[in-house]
Amino acid sequence: MTPEAKLKRLKDLVSEVWDLHMAAAVLSWDQETYMPPRGAAARGQQLSTISRLAHIKATDEEIGRLLDDLAPLAAQWNPDSDEARLVKVTRREYEKNTKVPADFVAEESRVTSEALMAWREAKAKADFGLFEPHLARIVALKKQYAEFFAPYDHIYDPLLDDFEPGLKTADVQRIFNALRPQQVALVQAIAQRPQPDDRFLHQPFDVQKQWDFGVEVITAFGFDWARGRQDKSAHPFTTAFSVDDVRITTRIEPDFLGTGLFGTMHECGHALYELGVAPELERTPLGHGASLAIHESQSRLWENLVGRSRAFWEHFYPRLQDTFPTQLGNVDLETFYRGINRVSPSLIRTEADEATYNLHIMLRLELEIGLLEGTIAVKDLPEVWRAKMKEYLGVAPSNDAEGVLQDIHWSMGSIGYFSTYALGNLISAQWWQKMEEDIPDLEAQIRRGEFGELLDWLRAHVHRHGAKFEPQELVQRVVGTGIDPEPYMRYLWAKYGEIYGL
Ligand code: MG
Repeated sequence: MTPEAKLKRLKDLVSEVWDLHMAAAVLSWDQETYMPPRGAAARGQQLSTISRLAHIKATDEEIGRLLDDLAPLAAQWNPDSDEARLVKVTRREYEKNTKVPADFVAEESRVTSEALMAWREAKAKADFGLFEPHLARIVALKKQYAEFFAPYDHIYDPLLDDFEPGLKTADVQRIFNALRPQQVALVQAIAQRPQPDDRFLHQPFDVQKQWDFGVEVITAFGFDWARGRQDKSAHPFTTAFSVDDVRITTRIEPDFLGTGLFGTMHECGHALYELGVAPELERTPLGHGASLAIHESQSRLWENLVGRSRAFWEHFYPRLQDTFPTQLGNVDLETFYRGINRVSPSLIRTEADEATYNLHIMLRLELEIGLLEGTIAVKDLPEVWRAKMKEYLGVAPSNDAEGVLQDIHWSMGSIGYFSTYALGNLISAQWWQKMEEDIPDLEAQIRRGEFGELLDWLRAHVHRHGAKFEPQELVQRVVGTGIDPEPYMRYLWAKYGEIYGL
């Protein structure tokens, strides 16, 4: 076979794996949106069969041989070319897939499905004891998992790497250590100040009108309805079946405006990323977002830097008032702006505001690392949780349901995931800072409800690359430094300094 033929063969093989993953994604999307309850058992079997087939295909020895054959040639290609990156990323994924034995995957799947059920019950009863033995098993499995990738610098590295390729535990610790004191200081400064009123957000708002307003906003953002759709689900998410078929879901509360409004913008940010990946990367391991943190940098950018800005509401607030005249007719723009940006330390991560959110993440990262290192025992988690919440946020849960049991992630075996949320916040501010240099009248454009240039910038610098570059590398290429907390902290202090008169 010629090198061209080998590359073509490699692409054919990874495309089949890709197609299986996309087919599974369609089934999962349906499961979360339209599937009737009794469909669950059969759907579980279908998904399990497809993921088994995908794993078999992804670990096909022919892929390994083609990668070996292509390696000396790939070393001579332009390292930034699609082909060189395809070989690099496929190699990385092939090694990951082949290092983990199929027995381990099956065992983990069994343990986590039991753990998920136990977690639901434990959370409902606010009783960590019911979940504790399951979590202990998961932690033991994660330690075992890390050993498949030994030697490593830190036992947590292989877990983190599944979500943020190339990022090390030491990187995240360094970033968070710089961030933590500044975040705590900001939250403490805000706590000394009077609170803006946000009661107007908590009243009955017609659900269909909320939906329609959200549609109007994300259409203005650039969501392409010929290549995507929006549906409802209990937990909003984004999924992509191809670059021309990206699905988002939203959840609308009849008595609170914030959930639907900002949730819709958030998922649209994820969708715009997937819709912007270069079509030539389709059906390869490069054909999706670079990592969860880069993804979250997109969702957070549209939700917060755009959607919670004064400029945005200068354009859209009159429309919102027209939509809800009885609820908002007497609430002026400034009151609305301050209300949607109210900072209040709370117990629940998913309800946290921009200023306190990252502290919830740091707490979880420290606990995960402690569990893996063995410096924190599973049985001590509720107590450690309470102590750290008091230290960082000044509040402590009265029971495990609003403390250590609140998130689903650990029960699903997703350890290594949480830091991506906070990193996404930091990166969103880095993009923004660079964008303000490149588009001097960015704010004026937003004030006019124009988002075309903003989206073009994101497409050109971030979206089109798909997963060609690792997250740190991508940030470095675009802004000239690695992941850095300073732009985000400057943004928070400027915004909340003004709102709270700090
Ligand atoms: Mg998200």
